[in-house]
Amino acid sequence: MNVSEMFGSMVFNDHVMREMLPKKVYQSLQDTMVEGKALDEDAADIVAAAMKEWAVSKGATHFTHWFQPMTGITAEKHDSFLTVDKTGCVIMDFSGKELTRGEPDASSFPSGGLRATFEARGYTAWDPTSYAFIKDDTLCIPTAFCSYTGQILDKKTPLLRSMDAISREAVRALSLFGKKVKRVNATIGAEQEYFLIDKKDFSRRLDLRLTGRTLIGAPAAKGQEMEDHYFGSIRGRVKAFMADLDEELWKLGITAKTEHNEVAPCQHEMAPIFDNANKATDANQLTMEMMKKVADRHGFACLLHEKPFEGINGSGKHNNWALSTDEGENLLDPGKTPKDNAQFMLFLTAVIRAVDDYQDLLRISVASAGNDHRLGANEAPPAIGSIFVGDELDAVIESIIEGTPFKGRSSSSRLDIGTSVLPKLARDNSDRNRTSPFAFTGNKFEFRMPGSSFNIACTNVMLNTAVADALKAFCDELEGASDFNASLNALIKRELKAHRRILFNGNGYSREWEEEAEKRGLSNYKRTPDALVHYCDEKNVALFKRHNVYTKEEMESRLEISLDEYQKAIHIEAVTMSEMLRRQILPSALRFTSSLASSVQVKGRIGVAANADKNLCAEASALCDELFVKIDELDECVAKGPQQTEKAAFYAADKIIPAMENARRICDRLECIVDKSYWPVPTYSEILFYV
Ligand code: ADP
Ligand code: MG
Repeated sequence: MNVSEMFGSMVFNDHVMREMLPKKVYQSLQDTMVEGKALDEDAADIVAAAMKEWAVSKGATHFTHWFQPMTGITAEKHDSFLTVDKTGCVIMDFSGKELTRGEPDASSFPSGGLRATFEARGYTAWDPTSYAFIKDDTLCIPTAFCSYTGQILDKKTPLLRSMDAISREAVRALSLFGKKVKRVNATIGAEQEYFLIDKKDFSRRLDLRLTGRTLIGAPAAKGQEMEDHYFGSIRGRVKAFMADLDEELWKLGITAKTEHNEVAPCQHEMAPIFDNANKATDANQLTMEMMKKVADRHGFACLLHEKPFEGINGSGKHNNWALSTDEGENLLDPGKTPKDNAQFMLFLTAVIRAVDDYQDLLRISVASAGNDHRLGANEAPPAIGSIFVGDELDAVIESIIEGTPFKGRSSSSRLDIGTSVLPKLARDNSDRNRTSPFAFTGNKFEFRMPGSSFNIACTNVMLNTAVADALKAFCDELEGASDFNASLNALIKRELKAHRRILFNGNGYSREWEEEAEKRGLSNYKRTPDALVHYCDEKNVALFKRHNVYTKEEMESRLEISLDEYQKAIHIEAVTMSEMLRRQILPSALRFTSSLASSVQVKGRIGVAANADKNLCAEASALCDELFVKIDELDECVAKGPQQTEKAAFYAADKIIPAMENARRICDRLECIVDKSYWPVPTYSEILFYV
């Protein structure tokens, strides 16, 4: 296998464009990609023809506008290239119009009420900044999805808008340091965690199939306490899966780089090389899709749910984030000269202010029924937002705020931004705190709250826009300054002081931190609806309006969709659980008790003691009785739920989840005493320690 030949072979990338497009058309497409200039119709026709020729040569027969509606997954509607020409002959055709615009039926995707008041139809528009690719013999064209009146109905459009916002403000900030750049990109590397389990086990569990997680299940005799899975040697079957996955991703131009085992049994991770936020998001969506597909080929089911198994670590998606100029300078790299350091401190300060001011938005961007099992559950980051910068940078910040000499490893000196050099930060020092939700790791930030199944667009919309806003405020102030260095020093000192409360280097899982965070006034929204209701707070609406990312209506629609998604997820879980308990667990457990009862009877007749049978029968019967009641209570609870979306979401959190919890506890106790041969679903030890 020749990796460099295979890499990107299914992507209509720069290399292919250069080869297949006339020079002039290639140039105007470049202008469209880099500067967002509109592509004229003739050029679009030529690009479309080249794309089709290339796609057909790779065996493609269909094309689709590939987009990311609010469902969280990607959507596609396939059309074939097939057309009948004037003479009645069948030809393969693809026009510029078909490339640039499509009309899927918008009414079948969530719009959060936008469609009720506006035009029902929607359209997809080509996003030339992410390459088209071939998947399943279909040319996939990345597109944005909007309503006819221009309201956004997808996750890509706001991301593109937020990227423009951060670019605009970062370019401004750089010009303060005498640098002229055209574009600054948010760069993202999304580390993807997932579970692989045997397909046979998966297919026998209704809960996994319908909800992505196990709703019942007693802990296995062995969990993850031995920590023997992390970086452990990879099972042969899994290795074959990973190799196959790498190949599929490489063909799609996705830079799958590292594959390794994670902490929990059956848990693994894949990390790509970072790219700009738009391409990285598309790549991550494709990665999740490919993981499921490739798993199936290898007799596995890939679980992307945040918490497939109780008591076992859940899965997240670390969102590594930095800023990079079109010349490749990483703006979160401290640099070596005083001037570089000053620039770094300004960007660092902007991030600190952004995360403090918009901690609620970051929490909201990772809120879902699935992720609630991770956040604040003593394994993943807590639900409280805070930043970890490492001891050295923390000492730097301290010295700036207090105006005291900086006591570094080698020297003790005053740190004047713009004139003195920052100490060289040791990289490993900054990467140790695994409990922090937002950690500086030497030249980028790692946001660890996103759940494994998330589309990372939303998180990056929040981050980009919030940081853009801080930079905007800084530029507004510094652009008119007569003494730049003095003003910069004063601004950084003031801002760090004002937002110091968001910095925390200690153990994010501890009870003390929760108390301390409360004293500092940091928000701590443990459950999705608690967080979501702050989405449309005045300051947040103003933020997105200021940077043309969302209108208030668009935000209200998104809030409605998120609340609805949450309450539906819990509803489906409750109904699934009830069905499993009523139709699988209870009947099996009852059969077990009746077999015990018969044995007691028979043994009694022949005068043999039957204490074990009798006691076990009594214990299991009592649990069955209790379970029966709990299932009734759960069903009743679900039936009584309110209709209105926000009320339904809180009802789900307040009432349905505890009712499920109650039923589960009884079921899990039963599991521990019922004869295995009677138990109707694979148990944790069977699923997690498959051979
Ligand atoms: P680890 O987190 O295991 O120490 P790395 O720090 O090498 O591993 O990288 C983790 C992820 O961060 C990778 O996906 C990598 O591509 C990404 N990454 C590295 N540099 C940047 C950057 N400047 N911007 C965004 N992501 C980055
Ligand atoms: Mg990492």
